[in-house]
Amino acid sequence: MVNSISVLGSTGSVGKQTLDVAERLNIPVKAISGNRNIKLLEKQARRFKPEFVCAYDEESAKHLKIALADTNIKVGGGMTALSDCACAYAGCVVTAVSGSVGLIPTLSAIGEGHRIALANKETLVCAGEIVMRRAREKEAEIIPVDSEHSAIFQCLEAQGKEKALKRILLTASGGPFRGMTREETEKVTPEMAVAHPNWSMGAKISVDSATMMNKGLEFIEAMHLFSVTPDKIKVIIHPESIIHSMVEYKDGCVMAQLGVPDMALPIQYALTYPERKSSNTPVPDFAQLSRLTFFDPEPQKTPCLMLAMDCARRGGTAAAVMSAANEEAVNLFLHKKLAFNAICDIVADAVDYISTSGTPTLDVLQGADEAARRFVLENCRKY
Ligand code: MG
Repeated sequence: MVNSISVLGSTGSVGKQTLDVAERLNIPVKAISGNRNIKLLEKQARRFKPEFVCAYDEESAKHLKIALADTNIKVGGGMTALSDCACAYAGCVVTAVSGSVGLIPTLSAIGEGHRIALANKETLVCAGEIVMRRAREKEAEIIPVDSEHSAIFQCLEAQGKEKALKRILLTASGGPFRGMTREETEKVTPEMAVAHPNWSMGAKISVDSATMMNKGLEFIEAMHLFSVTPDKIKVIIHPESIIHSMVEYKDGCVMAQLGVPDMALPIQYALTYPERKSSNTPVPDFAQLSRLTFFDPEPQKTPCLMLAMDCARRGGTAAAVMSAANEEAVNLFLHKKLAFNAICDIVADAVDYISTSGTPTLDVLQGADEAARRFVLENCRKY
């Protein structure tokens, strides 16, 4: 088990649950970060007494500094402080920020050889090859927190060898609009999209689940985490979210990891690995469930997933462009400035206009990220 943690994105859904898990397991929290929610950051700082608190938004950091003036907790703002939060205080960093802002602090933490409990999928989607290569060089462990990847990680660990792996079966709930046609999703509002049937999550990931871009991001994340080619990953719809993903071995054996849909479980395992500790999470009541169902995704009803799988095959900057364009498009949708179906349309066009092939450097990837965001902001009125 890790002996202390830093939590990037402690005010988000996974971040809050991470603090609860840490409290229950008596793991000291050395540093936390958020963006603008300084009320909650202050509350968390007083409860967990970290050495350092970062508000990524610099204006908010100034206010937080005043709010915590009666304590001896250090306060910082901006990307340097976020990277400090990741590097300077604990040997394990939980990266639970939303979006590609997680990339630089994750790379900084890897540079220190820290364990990364990875809950930020955009980091690997944007720069998976660079991140995984650095992690190997620095012998930094990357333990997935995303429930599907935690499942795959556990299934592979039970077997002990990735060599015998034939295929990854990545399960998807299908989101709240599973099986709906494009006509039927035309009038989807942000309120409808953020109400997920199985998981309670932040707004961005809830919209990603509704478009199934989340599964697309996870597809690319899995490719990098487990060093497999896109043809070795199969997405399967499993609406009950009891199986969190499976691994198929050469001999035809399939291993699955099961549990109730509760992020506390994969969060805890990323902190206690390779040990297992008792938890508050109930086990599934199988007799009550009575059946588990599975479907193949229908390509015409899952355009974002198909786009992500296409970007995975294209390589180059395609996935980074897709992910950044999607972040901006989802944000516009949440502010009612873009229609639900237009998210996929504008992201696909951004990929077509901006992405390049070849092996990109970090600078090239960051340039592509910025260009993708600009494309969406400049063109959103046309959709
Ligand atoms: Mg997931």
